[in-house]
Amino acid sequence: MFDFENYFDANPTAMLLIDEQNGKIVNANKSASDFYGYNTAELCSLNIFDLSILPLEEKINLFDEVRKKKNASYKLQLQLKDKSIKTVNVLPSLVKIDNSVMILAIIQDITNEIENLKELNKYFKIIDESVAYIGIANKERKVTYLNKSFRKAFGINVHEEISKFETSKFYSNDGAIQTRKNFENAVLTGEPWLCENEMKTLEGTIIPVFQSGIVVKDQNNEIDFTSITALNISQIKVVETELKESEKFYKSLFNHLNGFAYCKMIYNNGKAIDFEYVKVNKAYEEQTGLKNVCGKRVSEVIPGILEKDFSLIKKYADVVETGIPRVFEVYLNSMKIWVNVHVITPHANHFIASIEVITERKEREKKIVDLSNRYKQLFESHSSVMLLIDVDSGNILDVNTSAVNFYGYDKEQLIKMNIADINTLKNEAIKQEMELAVFEKRNYFLYKHKLANGELRDVEVHSIPMIINEKEALFTVIHDITERVKNEQLVNEYTVSLKKMNEDLESFAYVASHDLKAPLNVVNGFLGLINSKKNSLSNESRDEYLRYMQDAVNQMKSLINDLLQFSKIGLNKDSLEMVDVNHLLISIQSILSETIQQNKATITLHPLPTILANKTLLNELFMNLLGNALKYHKAEQEVVIEVGYEETADFHQFFVKDNGIGIATENLGKVFIMFKRLHPQSEFEGTGIGLSLCKRIVETHNGKIWVESVLGEGSTFYFTIKK
Ligand code: ADP
Repeated sequence: MFDFENYFDANPTAMLLIDEQNGKIVNANKSASDFYGYNTAELCSLNIFDLSILPLEEKINLFDEVRKKKNASYKLQLQLKDKSIKTVNVLPSLVKIDNSVMILAIIQDITNEIENLKELNKYFKIIDESVAYIGIANKERKVTYLNKSFRKAFGINVHEEISKFETSKFYSNDGAIQTRKNFENAVLTGEPWLCENEMKTLEGTIIPVFQSGIVVKDQNNEIDFTSITALNISQIKVVETELKESEKFYKSLFNHLNGFAYCKMIYNNGKAIDFEYVKVNKAYEEQTGLKNVCGKRVSEVIPGILEKDFSLIKKYADVVETGIPRVFEVYLNSMKIWVNVHVITPHANHFIASIEVITERKEREKKIVDLSNRYKQLFESHSSVMLLIDVDSGNILDVNTSAVNFYGYDKEQLIKMNIADINTLKNEAIKQEMELAVFEKRNYFLYKHKLANGELRDVEVHSIPMIINEKEALFTVIHDITERVKNEQLVNEYTVSLKKMNEDLESFAYVASHDLKAPLNVVNGFLGLINSKKNSLSNESRDEYLRYMQDAVNQMKSLINDLLQFSKIGLNKDSLEMVDVNHLLISIQSILSETIQQNKATITLHPLPTILANKTLLNELFMNLLGNALKYHKAEQEVVIEVGYEETADFHQFFVKDNGIGIATENLGKVFIMFKRLHPQSEFEGTGIGLSLCKRIVETHNGKIWVESVLGEGSTFYFTIKK
């Protein structure tokens, strides 16, 4: 038979027996009196309601509930005798003792457990909200817990069922292999692991992490669960690669850009006497060809440097002592190299020299200087006139000695001038021409240049574009071709006059064959007649023949005279003088006075100028024109002649006007041709040379002659003389 009494009294768990009707405590075991602090008698004088700290109404409700239900458990707070409050788990059950129904309450003190749970919850909250990704998996490697940041980073919803995920779901291939290895190792050793690893979100984004993991086993040494904590280190990774890159960069800078030498100055009695290499970079070794210098003195590394290049040490010492950085270029006699040196002092007695070997550059510079000196010499001493002209402004930048001699200005004057001060072209035109040269469309030009004394010279210019001091310039070589141009003109003139002479010669040939032959034939004919008739020739006939012969000879004489006149013209060309044309005509009138009277002619002289001309030729010219005007008129007509003058810009223009027979329009041009006559001898005597003589005289004076006429009314002959 179940011994309730013994079970009740000896039970290590606190137990109370309570009257089901009114809640009175009927009995309490030893554990209960130990727990509550009251002895059994004291407890048995209390009601269960006295121990609970719930409000009365709730106590009654609870008691009613307990009476109805079986096998429930209630978590309650109780007050002990010492007034302390405990949390308890109450397991009530109804028991029948001595025919009355009692409540047997088993009371478990869970105060400590509750406190522990609270503490655990606090930690859990921390874990849940940690920035680290925290996950727990069971021994089947199924996920059982993921904290908030894990879910967030890996894309898992709060309400999503996580137990479906295998742990491998959250790793890249490499990451999964590594985790597996770590896990197996941890199972063997029981040690947690720490490593860098690669995780993967559900979307497939790789997250580099720093991961710690632990495998927890149960009492039977079976795997209970695995927990991992991972920190996202992608930011750190980026910084790390950047750091690595920049480290590499600086390293390469240090090694390749310049040679660096970090040195310590060595003093003796306060005087810098040597220095010691502390550290140098690769570039220093490469550039200088020095090896294994660290820890050695420069006097040991570069023998003779103290004697041959002591100024170098002085310069370094200066930087060390003043703290002021220095940059200099120096030739090292001891090493036979040029170096560019930057020196700074990082701290006392030390300096860093950054060295660049510039021997090649220096040699190149020297060559350029030599070369430009040679060109300068060439430029200076060249016999050709040379100018350097700035393209933008046209200013003269440089001139050589020949230019100074040619233009007649000092060098200082010339290099203050503009090319427009020398070239007679307009500014705009000069600009355009220079552009042709700059774009290398043309490099040869002909100009007139003005010298200091005002003289104009014909020049031939060769221009080559070049860059001088970063500005566009024209290098021009100038040749004085004035003489050549003059000679060319002369040649041209000679050619023209030769052509003319040729034409004249042809005319002579013509006259020789026709006009001169004609009177000769006449003479010949009559001589023949006289000869053949001899004695039978009557005196009358002979006189008549002789008269004909006389006429022919006279005609020939005047032909020859006129031709002589004509051929003389060219020869008197240079004898120019001031001729008062008015006087000239008055004297001509007196020479012609007989003819004037015979023809009852009146000659009106308008005001006439004094001009520069060949007087003899001008006289001949007017004689011919006035002669013709007096000759070619209708019989019995009173001749009226006018001589007038008009001045134009470049010419003196004269006219001789008559009221004679005039010239048909179609003949106006022909009258100036040699031997051309419009009338037979019987009508008007003449040789046909007069007007061509006039033409020749006018042309000798660089003028022109022409005629305007109305047949039957009169003619006006115009001619010009160049001023
Ligand atoms: P010439 O008078 O000896 O015939 P010129 O050369 O002087 O030779 O004249 C050429 C021709 O021009 C003359 O034959 C004449 O027909 C014509 N002529 C010259 N002057 C006049 C004039 N004033 N009026 C009309 N005809 C003229």
